[in-house]
Amino acid sequence: MFAPPINRLITELARFPGIGQRTAQRLAFHILRASDEEAFALADAIREVKEKVGQCEVCFNLATEATCRICQDDRRDAHVLCVVEEPSDVIPIERTNEFSGRYHVLGGALSPIDGVDPEDLHMAELLDRAGQNGVREVVVATNATTTGEATALYIADELRRSAPQVSVTRLASGLPVGSDLEYADEITLGRALRSRREL
Ligand SMILES: [Zn+2]
Repeated sequence: MFAPPINRLITELARFPGIGQRTAQRLAFHILRASDEEAFALADAIREVKEKVGQCEVCFNLATEATCRICQDDRRDAHVLCVVEEPSDVIPIERTNEFSGRYHVLGGALSPIDGVDPEDLHMAELLDRAGQNGVREVVVATNATTTGEATALYIADELRRSAPQVSVTRLASGLPVGSDLEYADEITLGRALRSRREL
């Protein structure tokens, strides 16, 4: 229907999460209408991010140098590690201003059905870091999904064996702030009840 270069652009845009064929077409026409300057700025930004952003060699967060800015920051407590699935999970935790330790990005969650085994994640590196001198707590902040929960249990088991001196904690899950009890689903409400605390 379109000239091959336009088809190619639509095909590439349609690969983005949440972007269907029609949205991809709309975006492609937006790019065609844009000035050369605007369109090339987008192309350059994509190239630059792929060329300059890599992985922190300590925690596997995104980094533009050998290590990320959090690992480089001496004020961050190196004795507490927060384990997350993806680099994008670091941002919401940082936004809370409640965590001053370091991170460890696994690169996904365990899912034997999809063929994701511990070797496919940065699991060995986590066990290695947790076993190092001075680490006293590992906060498991994997997602509250089946695979995230399975990953959390696996980490707790492994650490009990390899680093029993380290306490392993899991993020509490509970009710969203500002929400009414009657709208909470039973799983969330059940968990909130189980992880209740003294007032
Ligand atoms: Zn790092």
